[in-house]
Amino acid sequence: MTRKERKHQLSDSAVVEQIPLACSNELAAVEFLEHQRWGANPCCVHCGSVNVYKMADAKTGERNSRYLWRCKDCKEQYTVRIGTVYEESRIELRHWCYTFWRAATSKKGVSALEIKRQCQISYKSALFLMNRIRFAMAPDQASKEPLKGDVEVDEVYLGARRPRFKGTGKIGRGTDRPIVFAAVQRYGQIRRRVVPNVHGETLKQAIREEIDRSARIISDEFGSYKGLGKEFAAHETVRHATGEYVRGDVHTNTVESSHALLKRSIVGIYHNISREYLHRYLWQADFMWNARKMNDGERTILAIKSAEGKRMMYRQPAV
Ligand SMILES: [Zn+2]
Repeated sequence: MTRKERKHQLSDSAVVEQIPLACSNELAAVEFLEHQRWGANPCCVHCGSVNVYKMADAKTGERNSRYLWRCKDCKEQYTVRIGTVYEESRIELRHWCYTFWRAATSKKGVSALEIKRQCQISYKSALFLMNRIRFAMAPDQASKEPLKGDVEVDEVYLGARRPRFKGTGKIGRGTDRPIVFAAVQRYGQIRRRVVPNVHGETLKQAIREEIDRSARIISDEFGSYKGLGKEFAAHETVRHATGEYVRGDVHTNTVESSHALLKRSIVGIYHNISREYLHRYLWQADFMWNARKMNDGERTILAIKSAEGKRMMYRQPAV
């Protein structure tokens, strides 16, 4: 067995141990990402051929300074960046590895300011990294399965109260703070989205899109959720107004703890999130919740693997 082959025999735990090195050394980062993408069978990103080689520098014989590969069949050159969220950026891949690692291991999230300081890159670059990584963490709409079993639903208002509401006693429903709807399958996945209002039609539309008809829905007594029992296997409510929070297994504790975590990360890490970008933070928060049973290394690798085949659909100036 050659050294190269032995390297590809590494177990997942050994792969995880390579992450810190990949965060500090560019060649290690490139080879780490190449291994995650192609394993022992590197192939051409243009034609799929495995008849490929790493280009070497003519003078030193070392690996080409741009880490290029070349395909002997279609004669094209490429790098591991092609077809991923890092494609349109010149930011070093070790910074990508570091940011993936931090974003996938910080329970309450990580801010672009921290990434700027730790990688010693510009704030613009750090924002670019975080935005692409959040995009990588976004759910794949095509393979998404509806939630089943017991599903708790609830909505939450985020952000600081607008000054004009101060002293009015309006803190929840009825204010214009950004609203997030959440549906959580007990012991399972979470789905959150920004909603424009809490009207029955809006919330029911979200519920229909995210939850299987066979599910038992559990909510509070809010009027917008009325009538769900007709569309789903069952609908139970807890009456918070009368001080009831748990009745047997009827409670919304899971979805409420997801709100608490989301609020803490927004206040503690991001301070203020504009409504326009809130959905991106939700992608990351949902990814963290859904991968909560994995260890840090597995979750980092899942995030990196999710970056493949994804490119932002809108233009953002490359950094
Ligand atoms: Zn090719």
